[in-house]
Amino acid sequence: QKQTAIITGASSGLGLNAAKALAATGEWHVVMACRDFLKAEKAAKAIGMPSGSYSILHLDLSSLESVRQFVANFKATGRRLDALVCNAAVYLPTAKEPRFTADGFELSVGTNHLGHFLLTNLLLDDLKNAPNKQPRCVIVGSITGNTNTLAGNVPPKANLGDLSGLASGVTVANPMMDGQEFNGAKAYKDSKVACMMTVRQMHGRFHESTGVTFASLYPGCIAETGLFREHYGVFKTLFPPFQKYVTKGYVSEEEAGRRLAQVISDPKLNKSGAYWSWSSSKGSFENQVSEEVADDAKAAKLWDLSAKLVGLS
Ligand code: NDP
Repeated sequence: QKQTAIITGASSGLGLNAAKALAATGEWHVVMACRDFLKAEKAAKAIGMPSGSYSILHLDLSSLESVRQFVANFKATGRRLDALVCNAAVYLPTAKEPRFTADGFELSVGTNHLGHFLLTNLLLDDLKNAPNKQPRCVIVGSITGNTNTLAGNVPPKANLGDLSGLASGVTVANPMMDGQEFNGAKAYKDSKVACMMTVRQMHGRFHESTGVTFASLYPGCIAETGLFREHYGVFKTLFPPFQKYVTKGYVSEEEAGRRLAQVISDPKLNKSGAYWSWSSSKGSFENQVSEEVADDAKAAKLWDLSAKLVGLS
């Protein structure tokens, strides 16, 4: 049996292009974990993924019940699991009011962080039992959550504060993790901080006992993906050329997909706990995370609160 990778949010952008890159090697079967089956099927065909190189399983990360059902459905396929890639995300930069998941969590944190948190915990044993000697769990991070960078310093900056909002469930009463007023762009950045912290916690808690490599990455600014679908029109027009010619952080969807596929499968990128980035001169390199992401005491608190919210403790 080929190696299997599950990629969440593989119906567009980074996830779709990583799925394509892996499938093209002939060594991987990709399980596209998507909330819109038809969209995923059309996208896979349009991008030229050979039939048989992928399957699509329904997953809506904005419902914990759907996450549990997905895990049951995946296990029922009897497939091995060599790589789990938490890639799906929503970004609501123009939202005036918060939106919520089926379980009542603010949508960005609920989808990008809590849904994936439950998913990775429920699939950890399958990864551990992978016949592949290098099982991997990758959660996509972002430069915008790393305040040690220029992009991470564009306000509103990520900051989980005292986690009091998360402690009260990121619900209508208190939708932000830091307990402050709702801000859609910040909620996204905070969720990415939580993703990168989760990777570091998983590394500390499980790497030695399971042999799984846990990693995060910033693939570059993929300025044309669906991530910006809710942004203002003028932003969507100006952002790609700005990234191409001013910041030079622009990367095509195809190249970003190759980078993610590299973190999933390249024997050289097997360091657990790492956060990968790319530069045009060096290629992939291990990057530094911000002080907050590196705060392991805060990350442990984040872990405990998240486990409670998704019903793991
Ligand atoms: P896209 O919007 O193109 O892809 C996001 C994917 O997530 C889509 O497939 C979408 O599904 C899926 N998704 C959203 N909500 C859910 C849900 N509730 N359940 C299941 N799937 C869901 O954006 P990108 O490809 O740009 O984003 C991919 C990752 O890359 C994200 O983690 C993002 O944070 C990260 N990233 C992106 C950067 C960029 O510049 N674009 C930079 C740094 C990181 P559907 O197709 O049905 O909407």
